[in-house]
Amino acid sequence: MKKNEVEKEVTVACAGSYKSKKARWNDWKWQIKNRINTLEEISKYVHLTKEEKKGLVLTERLAFAITPYFLSLIDPFDPNCPIRKQCIPTSNEGVATEFDYNDPCAEEKDSPVPGLVHRYPDRVLLLVTDECATYCRHCTRRRTTGHAKHVMTSKMLEKVIKYLTDNPAIRDVIVSGGDPLTLSDEKLEMILSSLKKVPTVEVIRIGTRVPIFLPMRISESLVTMLKKYNPVWMSIHINHSKEITADVKKALARLADAGIVTGSQTVLLKGINDTSEAMKKLCLEVMKNRVRPYYIYQCDPAIGTSHFRASIEKGIDIVSKLRGFISGYAVPTYVIDAPGGGGKIPISPKYVVEKQGKKWTLKNFRDKHYEYIET
Ligand SMILES: *Cc1c(COP(=O)(O)O)cnc(C)c1O
Repeated sequence: MKKNEVEKEVTVACAGSYKSKKARWNDWKWQIKNRINTLEEISKYVHLTKEEKKGLVLTERLAFAITPYFLSLIDPFDPNCPIRKQCIPTSNEGVATEFDYNDPCAEEKDSPVPGLVHRYPDRVLLLVTDECATYCRHCTRRRTTGHAKHVMTSKMLEKVIKYLTDNPAIRDVIVSGGDPLTLSDEKLEMILSSLKKVPTVEVIRIGTRVPIFLPMRISESLVTMLKKYNPVWMSIHINHSKEITADVKKALARLADAGIVTGSQTVLLKGINDTSEAMKKLCLEVMKNRVRPYYIYQCDPAIGTSHFRASIEKGIDIVSKLRGFISGYAVPTYVIDAPGGGGKIPISPKYVVEKQGKKWTLKNFRDKHYEYIET
């Protein structure tokens, strides 16, 4: 089935009091309510492989849901479609290797109050919901994501605010989840305004994939609300240039116009974006849309995600083919979030060849050697 047919079929299936099908399609709440989340439904739109069918009935797999919008980007005939692979499970999700973890980044160990992860000196991660618009099959926080159990209540938030007040060194709060932009404007504003009241909190960041899964959520009223809490930064999870549609471009422009600084975070995924060509295309496309490529993550060893992991050597090779070849601003930092809770560690091609006394031998992006002598 073609993209437009998916759009047609899904909209026809749901009655409502909308002026037009387009209006319904562009209502983010309608998109959430009408997510595709069963084997039966998805098989109406996508010619599933045996592995995908098996993946969909695995009981231990992560929650499954796709917004109609994101579904419309899937190639129904190509099991290698980069969009499809990110959101339709396969039987590989039932595989656990010896070095897979339930909590790969050991976030629970560094959680002083429920929902808060405090690992670095000046910033914290705040998990406000375990819901997402669509569930990424490579999710690192799959131990909690999609369980519909965790949502930041006002009681919990009170404890978080007390912790932030007692720890004035924290100047940057990353609101994440799940996906915080699946919350209503009211709930989100309640959280942001509480954070803003702590005088030592200088910056709020939002970690989200909603601009990609649900671009219609980035409404004028949402950005008007967010803008009140500037400086607001947003880290957007983007993995493939195909994700950057006309709707996404509009959403990204709206964020940039509101003065919200955006960065992209990409997970290196085998068979999806693990070539220098795919990554270059993505980074350039991201930059063109006023989003700064921020990180490329080595895929975390979460249980059931081993099939997505590209080798670290591949990752290093990819970034060595970006640096120098495209705008510096378009080059993200490749990091490994160290299993066990070590935090993000940058992994870089080796540019320092040797240091002898005051003489440094360096390698440029074309593999040519140069000397720098400290005087
Ligand atoms: C990633 C992360 C941060 C933010 O790190 P930056 O390098 O500043 O983007 C903060 N806290 C935790 C626990 C994290 O995992």
